[in-house]
Amino acid sequence: MTVLTDVDATFRRLREEVCRLHAELTRYELVVWTAGNVSARVPDRDLLVIKPSGVAYDQLTPDNMVVCDLFGTVVDGDHAPSSDTDAQAYVYRHMPHVGGVVHTHSTYATAWAARGEPIPCVLTMMADEFGGDVPVGPFALIGDDSIGRGIVQTLSQSRSPAVLMRNHGVFSIGRTARAAVKAAVMCEDVARTVHIARQLGQPLPIAEQHIDSLYDRYQNVYGQR
Ligand SMILES: [Zn+2]
Repeated sequence: MTVLTDVDATFRRLREEVCRLHAELTRYELVVWTAGNVSARVPDRDLLVIKPSGVAYDQLTPDNMVVCDLFGTVVDGDHAPSSDTDAQAYVYRHMPHVGGVVHTHSTYATAWAARGEPIPCVLTMMADEFGGDVPVGPFALIGDDSIGRGIVQTLSQSRSPAVLMRNHGVFSIGRTARAAVKAAVMCEDVARTVHIARQLGQPLPIAEQHIDSLYDRYQNVYGQR
């Protein structure tokens, strides 16, 4: 009989969770081919679990998830980690409350990113989830810290758990990987609705004090207690 230590059990659980959450990206049609990923922080350790690079979503297993340190160096796994690992590791290093990060190029949200235009807070569900507009982060090239820096700078000045990186796509964060996936799903949903609203006119803004009270209620009261 194999006895798993607590540490082994934590890694096993996170490998399974991160693997399983990728199915939500395909279920909600946020990704094509292999372009999108989920990661999770390993609690109390300077490590993260992330998708392997270039592996198709239907080939993902808990065992081929990759464990990296918070500088993107592989510490356990047979595959290279996602090419977004450096950006996500930067987020974990600089935002200690973040337990999960998601990246997608989901169509409607990325169309806003292509224009460099924040999604205006014109829906109560946006006030609930994002506490305001979904902000735009700077243009950044892959290969150094600039994507991670842009995500952290933008999200630090906003209540939104999602940022539209200009000309690129969505990065979302959460207390858990599941919460970050939810933010990515909601971001695409509101991007689509507000886009459609724009086709026939100008969506109506929501007053700042109403955004504040919606956000406060949803974040603190809503749901199962
Ligand atoms: Zn990307």
